[in-house]
Amino acid sequence: MTLVMRSLAKLSIGLLIAASLAGCFSEHRPRILLLGIDGANWKAITPLLEQGRLPNIARLTIEGSWGPLQVLPPYLSPRVWTSIATGKEPNSHGILGWVKPEGEGGAKLYYSNDRQGHALWNIFSDDKKSIGLVNWLVTYPPEVVRGVVVSDHALSGESKARAWLGALFANAQGREFDAEAAIASPAQAIFPKAWNERVLHPRHAKAKLARYENSFEDERPLPDRFDRERLSSFFERDQELVSIALEIDRTVEPDLMMLLLQGIDRVSHSLWACIDDPAGYPDNFNPTPEERKNCRDMLLGYYEYTDELIGRVLDRFTDEDLVMVMSDHGFESIFRGALTGGHDTPDASQGVILARGPRIEVGRLLSPNEVSVYDIAPTVLAWAGKPVARDMDGKVAPFLMVDEDNPLLEPIDTYAINPITRVGDNTSGGEAVLMDQLQALGYVD
Ligand SMILES: [Zn+2]
Repeated sequence: MTLVMRSLAKLSIGLLIAASLAGCFSEHRPRILLLGIDGANWKAITPLLEQGRLPNIARLTIEGSWGPLQVLPPYLSPRVWTSIATGKEPNSHGILGWVKPEGEGGAKLYYSNDRQGHALWNIFSDDKKSIGLVNWLVTYPPEVVRGVVVSDHALSGESKARAWLGALFANAQGREFDAEAAIASPAQAIFPKAWNERVLHPRHAKAKLARYENSFEDERPLPDRFDRERLSSFFERDQELVSIALEIDRTVEPDLMMLLLQGIDRVSHSLWACIDDPAGYPDNFNPTPEERKNCRDMLLGYYEYTDELIGRVLDRFTDEDLVMVMSDHGFESIFRGALTGGHDTPDASQGVILARGPRIEVGRLLSPNEVSVYDIAPTVLAWAGKPVARDMDGKVAPFLMVDEDNPLLEPIDTYAINPITRVGDNTSGGEAVLMDQLQALGYVD
């Protein structure tokens, strides 16, 4: 073979590879990302956006629709995240808060088996789509789906946080609560079991996914009431959860990925008042001007950190995918023990929604009350070409464009047809069948 022929042969092999790669890309399977940022608030985001400090959120505002997300009181995260996942009001889905009355004067955490009806992960899984579900509230015990479920009790720090909050809310209602019993075994909190070791591996806790440094570990003074060690653990937990989600995403490439990060909510509960007017501070909260500035910088810095983590997850998704970033309520100053922030009154009623993808209007600013937490699930279903169910309380959001090629389908009565199986259920026949299918698909060993 002459030199020219050889290089021509090489070139044509190169072209063949390029053509077959192009073939792969043109058959892109559109995926869905729902990224929950508990407590994220426009009051903090807007000034940071103006200063160019949140590049990933800024990109979503340019490329998609964004604005306030309507939430109805009481602004309790478990009920709201369950509404987002089901399209139902709390009275329909049955998760009313953190704890429910149990027996004579007792209380228990709400668990996934208290939920009425199907969530998005059940609906998509029943339609043979794959799922990645990480830390979404009230997902313990994990449900058997095609894919991987890291329930909100899988990391021991998360399970302890649920137990701590359960005790707080139960005691406020004058009820007894067994916090010890509320802490789950991590091995029971993940589906399938084949993922236990990968999810609980210490590499996730050590992952370094952002350039932003953990400011709670530096020397800058803060008012005494703030527990820096706790704040620091929230910083690390968010990174760990993103690391786990990225590993699931790389391995399974699920059709539907749902991830919830709670760091902003937790840090805001401590630090929020520092970004509000000091004139409103009570006598028992009198930081020095320097402490107030540090506290404010750390809270706003946490938003920058979260924006970086959002960017790491967004890197996995293309503009052919549907991406929604959302929060479950806003924030306001309250002064209660060690806390200076909360979400009790209508001042904290607005969450955040940012949506991007094919058929999502570009650069559309939503007006207040245009989109509610009940509308997320119907919108996701409509985007995926599925009908909305009549037993859902939400509607398809107006930022989803409908045309002849992509019409809204006639609603169906309900998606709650196939029974839901959970880890630890006695009726595990469904789990065995699904495990076989997952193994066949190469999702589990
Ligand atoms: Zn909160």
